[in-house]
Amino acid sequence: MPHPADDIVAALYAPSKADGDEIRRAYDFSEKAHGEEKRKSGEPYIVHPHAIAVTLAKLGMDRETVIAGILHDTIEDTTVTADEIEKEFGKTVRFLVEGVTKTSKLKYRGLERHVESLRRLLVATASDIRVIIIKLADRLHNMHTIEHVEPAEKRERIARETLEVHVPIAERLGMGTLKSELEDLSFAVLDPKGYEGAMKTITEETANKLGKLDDAVNDLRRNIAEAGLRAFRTETRVKSAYSFARKLEEKDGNIDRIYDLLALRIIVPSIEDCYRTMGIVHKLWRPIPGRVKDYIAFPKPNGYRSLHTSVITGNGVTVEVQIRTEEMHRDSQLGVASHFNYKLQAQPQVPRTSIDWLRSLLPRGIRQPAHKGTDVAPTPRWLKDLTEIQAEIPEHEAFRETLARDFFAERMFIFTPKGDVIDLPIGATAVDFAYAVHSDLGDRMTGAKANGKIIALDAPLHNGMIVEVLTKKSGTPNKKWLDFAKTSGARKHIRAALQNKQHTP
Ligand code: MN
Repeated sequence: MPHPADDIVAALYAPSKADGDEIRRAYDFSEKAHGEEKRKSGEPYIVHPHAIAVTLAKLGMDRETVIAGILHDTIEDTTVTADEIEKEFGKTVRFLVEGVTKTSKLKYRGLERHVESLRRLLVATASDIRVIIIKLADRLHNMHTIEHVEPAEKRERIARETLEVHVPIAERLGMGTLKSELEDLSFAVLDPKGYEGAMKTITEETANKLGKLDDAVNDLRRNIAEAGLRAFRTETRVKSAYSFARKLEEKDGNIDRIYDLLALRIIVPSIEDCYRTMGIVHKLWRPIPGRVKDYIAFPKPNGYRSLHTSVITGNGVTVEVQIRTEEMHRDSQLGVASHFNYKLQAQPQVPRTSIDWLRSLLPRGIRQPAHKGTDVAPTPRWLKDLTEIQAEIPEHEAFRETLARDFFAERMFIFTPKGDVIDLPIGATAVDFAYAVHSDLGDRMTGAKANGKIIALDAPLHNGMIVEVLTKKSGTPNKKWLDFAKTSGARKHIRAALQNKQHTP
């Protein structure tokens, strides 16, 4: 019997029967919990967690994360408790859903400092990259359905937040596909004319080039095959609207200086093949000087790897050629998401689409049908060795640590009673906090409460505290505050206020 969650299961990487059963069970549980609740579009609420689960499955996420996506709004919006979730679906799912619930309480203000701290806080509070990935999938669906949000100012606020908070996180995590989707959806809300203009120019500029590029690519494919390389594939991508508009601005509106409006991706089996293919491309087509980039030898900070070159094809199309292995390709599309699937970890790190070429590499004798219930080919010995070598480097552990260190380095996050986030150096006090919120608040401060209890003004605050500043109209700064105020902003204001006091009779 078909089940509404079947498409989620189908999108999952190599689902087992148990994966399917659990996901359907979680779906029924969530649907029942959300009951009569509706989305702003008028649809039953379950369409939202459903869409998120499909995105997560497509990103290659594991069963727990997909289930947490299905349940992500239940603690906040329904009577379901964390204990119930743990009882039904285990500790990991509980941990992930609680993480999503915690971060949804964070508020955004369009001030530069707050944007930066929200970005950090989102990552810090989530404490697990999987929570962030669920948040990104959540935001993606909310952006896809943003036309139902009223009024226009609210749509714009959400789109700006997406561009300033979620997009940089997706970029940092190397999740290229999700990042450009979020960018274009935000762009269309914030600057509808700019978005339409960019789309129109892209369509016009590429209309007659795409056919010519196809011809050129056929030519290239023949050359690559003749050089003895058989297991490769190519794909063409057109630059997205937002990234095109930004590039055009960078190039002072001169479209002829954009060399990567069209990109040709060549996906080959090994790193050695990448360099060989680059040679074939340069022999066939004229490279544009200064455009060769070796991101394999020198990966981008977010881990992106590929060889890049821009060329003019024999029939006159300017195109950026990106040469990479299947693994590099998957990393560039899905980023860190793909590192969290134990199936992708335990098995050779290849996506579903590349399983055929993997099979084609096997010597005839050991070519076997896929394991029952999975889509994964048996692992050849040499590949197993490679996977084991990789397994010795706990890559995502190290990555998570670095991320935590970067974001936490000497900073802490204090909340106002309304949920705004203030980013302060470790050791800062309620006085620093008050001045960081507003200089008036500091000047009239008489005391402070942290998590509802009165605290001494010189007591250092701790990460995550909710701090309320007590004021009196007649309150003035005390000279002693200078002994413990940590931030230069607070010290400056205290001195200024003290001087003012001296000068007024
Ligand atoms: Mn949601």
